[in-house]
Amino acid sequence: MAFDPIKLRPGNVEFLVRRAQGEGLFIGGVWGQAEGGADFATLDPATGIETGRIAAASASDVDAAVAAARGALAGWRATMPVERARILWKIADLIEAHIDDLAELETLDQGKPLFVGRWAEIPGAVNQFRFFAGQAMAIEGQTLESSINYQPAGRQMRTWTVREPVGVVAAIVPWNSPLVLTAMKLAPAMAAGCTVVLKPAEDTSLSALRLAELMAEAGLPAGVLNVVTGLGGQTGAVLAAHPQVDKIAFTGSTATGRAVLDAAKTNFKRVTLELGGKSPSIVFPDADMGITVPGVANAIFFNGGQVCIAGSRLYVHRSVHDEVVEGVAAYAKGLKLGHGLAPDTQMGPVVSARHAERVEGFLNRAKTDGATMLTGGERFGDAGTFIAPTVVVDVKPDMEIVREEVFGPVLVVQAFDDAEEVVAAANSSEYGLAASVWTESLSTAHRMISDIRAGTVWVNSHAMYDASLAIGGVKQSGWGRDSGRQAMDNYLEWKTVCACV
Ligand code: NAD
Repeated sequence: MAFDPIKLRPGNVEFLVRRAQGEGLFIGGVWGQAEGGADFATLDPATGIETGRIAAASASDVDAAVAAARGALAGWRATMPVERARILWKIADLIEAHIDDLAELETLDQGKPLFVGRWAEIPGAVNQFRFFAGQAMAIEGQTLESSINYQPAGRQMRTWTVREPVGVVAAIVPWNSPLVLTAMKLAPAMAAGCTVVLKPAEDTSLSALRLAELMAEAGLPAGVLNVVTGLGGQTGAVLAAHPQVDKIAFTGSTATGRAVLDAAKTNFKRVTLELGGKSPSIVFPDADMGITVPGVANAIFFNGGQVCIAGSRLYVHRSVHDEVVEGVAAYAKGLKLGHGLAPDTQMGPVVSARHAERVEGFLNRAKTDGATMLTGGERFGDAGTFIAPTVVVDVKPDMEIVREEVFGPVLVVQAFDDAEEVVAAANSSEYGLAASVWTESLSTAHRMISDIRAGTVWVNSHAMYDASLAIGGVKQSGWGRDSGRQAMDNYLEWKTVCACV
């Protein structure tokens, strides 16, 4: 099915006319073009058709956005928590009211099947704003009984802490789940009283622009959110290094995370990094195969494997290896690939031609290294950027396909014989984002929960998340946590007070 703009939802046709003509910078509450009218095309990955033009913000556009955020900071910080909460809740209501439009925009931009946005990601974004609306009214410091012995006659030393917003936040997000990952940064930052400059990913800016419109409609004061679209190495790099930015909230690849960390050195910005993963799914022989086989398949093929927490390494106990692998391969072969807007599509294209080439490169090198493609292992179809769902066997632990994040519908399978061996294999990765364990044994589950080095461990499920739960990784999967109460710590500083009164 080709992308047909006339068949889009009416709200989106109007939106694309309004914003995707290169007039998508939102600075100080005003929409405008980038300096010199610079822009670039955004494409529907399923067809390669241009869906709009995205403004390419220059260094001076970034300057203006940061200045607007700085200018709005004092007012937003002084806004009563209940008022910040009311606006955040209203934003959630507006996202929910436009859920079908937003899901369609995500599909158009990223390629994901409609159901992924409609039933998982956009509701996830709504819940982020609702959860952090509550957190805006729950910011608390401490009173402390100190032992300071400076006590002038008739006076007492009182000591306490207060929490204050970090300041101007640069939120830099990737393309795989654009709206919900954006919400994970904006909602806690704004609940804490910070103002934000948002840099969406170049391949998927549309939902961020629509969100900015909805946030303005919800009554968010001008300058609290500013959006600068543009290329990572240009707009993103300038924003990350900007001396008037106090904190970078970054989600993306581990390689870019390193560049962001470097840029943050200029003025010692606070940094949180939500980076890549190569998460293991571990199947023990006593697992309930009725939920395990579809569960571990879905862990990798949901959203075409373009999920940071995807279960991309499958470890199966040797005694059930063939049964599980055959089941997963049959699941992969049965998936219906197509345009994400078609109602029966189960897996869409990968996000861009560049990314499809990258995934194909991994597959070709794996073949050269001696791996076997049990199913898939190549492009799918003649048009668009589809990769066939792929199950790779006959691999060795040191192969690139086992170690590196492919970020596509590619599962590598290895057999194991005992718990000790699989813990060592699971932990041998440079990443430590997430893991799932499939077993009916309470003691096996507890042992895995404690021995696996990862930010999240699921038991008999994978990639479950909720606004109340922190998400993030250890090792090269990053620093800090998004989502959950822990995310408020990213956007609040401690101030210590000693008062001799
Ligand atoms: P990416 O690192 O290429 O880009 C992420 C963002 O950074 C984009 O907005 C990009 O424009 C910007 N950027 C690029 N170069 C920059 C620079 N030098 N300075 C500042 N900004 C720059 O990542 P991607 O390909 O968009 O996303 C996929 C990656 O994101 C995967 O590695 C995935 O695992 C990771 N991810 C992690 C999580 C998590 O929670 N840990 C969630 C989703 C995605």
